[in-house]
Amino acid sequence: MAEASGLGIEHFFCHNSACPEHGKRGAGDLYFRGFSGRDKRIRMVYCRACKRSCSERKGTALERSQLPTDKAVSVLEHLREGCGIRATSRLTGASRDAVSRHLAKAGGQAKLLHDELVAFSP
Ligand SMILES: [Zn+2]
Repeated sequence: MAEASGLGIEHFFCHNSACPEHGKRGAGDLYFRGFSGRDKRIRMVYCRACKRSCSERKGTALERSQLPTDKAVSVLEHLREGCGIRATSRLTGASRDAVSRHLAKAGGQAKLLHDELVAFSP
């Protein structure tokens, strides 16, 4: 099974605000169940406490990304290092459109972006 990010379940939390486990990273009631996305590369995270599931990208700068996780993270890292859109596109192989979208999405949430890169780092 191809797995792009390999991020452990302990990095996720339940996004259902009505759930007792809401926002608790590594609460222990979560597990991966199935995939979503065009090529089934985005894992679904299921919460035992409230019996809901959501994409592993929910609430992150990668939520609407069409790129594979490793490439999306690479794009974000290059942008964070100050690479322009053209350079980032060349270095990561992502289209300039895709890079622009990530830049726009990440622009207003620098802090979030930082947390995310930490979470997605190997
Ligand atoms: Zn829950």
